[in-house]
Amino acid sequence: MVAVARAFNEMATDLEQAEDLRRNLLADVAHELRTPLSVIQGNLRAILDEVYPLDPSEIARLYEQTRLLSRLVNDLHELAQAEANKLPLNLKETDLKALIQINSETFRPGAETKGVALHTNLPETLPSVRVDTSRLTQVLQNLLANGLRHTPDGGTITLSANAAADSVRLAISDTGEGILPEHLPHIFDRFYRADLARSRDKGGAGLGLAIARAIIEAHGGTLTASSEGVPGKGSTFTIQLPR
Ligand code: ADP
Repeated sequence: MVAVARAFNEMATDLEQAEDLRRNLLADVAHELRTPLSVIQGNLRAILDEVYPLDPSEIARLYEQTRLLSRLVNDLHELAQAEANKLPLNLKETDLKALIQINSETFRPGAETKGVALHTNLPETLPSVRVDTSRLTQVLQNLLANGLRHTPDGGTITLSANAAADSVRLAISDTGEGILPEHLPHIFDRFYRADLARSRDKGGAGLGLAIARAIIEAHGGTLTASSEGVPGKGSTFTIQLPR
C-alpha cells in the first residue's frame, strides 16, 4: 500500500513537472512572438500617425520582422513535429562522405569571407547510412553556421568523420569562444541562448539546436556537445548515426 501511495505521489510530481514545462514553453513562445509583433505594430502605428515616413527603407525593416516571425513559426512547427516523432523522413542509403563534402563546399565561401578556415578530416571511405539527406544537410549547415557565428576571424572549423562497428560519427569543431560549463547542459533546450544580450536578428530564437537534436534522434542517433568553455579552444558537436 505504501508503495502504491509512493508511486502515485511520484506520478503526480512527474505530471506537475510536465505541466510546468508546458506552461514555460507557452510563455516562451508568447514572448518570442511578442517581440517582432510589437516592433511591427509600433512602426505601423508611427507610419499611420505620420511620425515615420512611408518609405521603402521603413517597409524593408517591417518586412524583415515578418521574416523573423515566419522563421520562428516554421521552427516551432518543425520542432513540434520532430518531438512528436511525426517529422516526415525521406530515408535513403546515402554516401555520407559525398554529403559531408558537398556541405563543406557550400559552406566554405561564407567561412572564408569571415576569415575562418574550414578543414575536413575524412577517412578514405565511409559506410553508407540510411538518412534523409535534406534533414541531415539542415543539421550540418546549422552546426556549421553556429560554429562560424561563435568563432572570430583567424579561427578554424573542422568537419571530421569516422566509422565504428555499428555507427558513424561526425564531428564539427570550432576554435571559437567555447561554451561555459553552466550553459553546456542547457544549449539543446528550446529557446536557450547562452548569450542573452545577443540580438535575435543575428542568431535565432534558440531553437536551432533543439531542432537539430530532434532530427538526429528521429534517425535513431544522438547529437551531443562538448566544450571546455575556454575562448580559443572552442566547442565540438558530435553526431552519432546508426549504420
Ligand atoms: P541560436 O538561435 O541562439 O543560435 P541554438 O539552439 O542554435 O540557438 O544555440 C543555442 C545556444 O548555444 C546559442 O545561443 C549559443 O549560445 C550556444 N552555441 C551554439 N553553438 C555554439 C558554438 N559553436 N560555440 C559557442 N556557443 C554555441
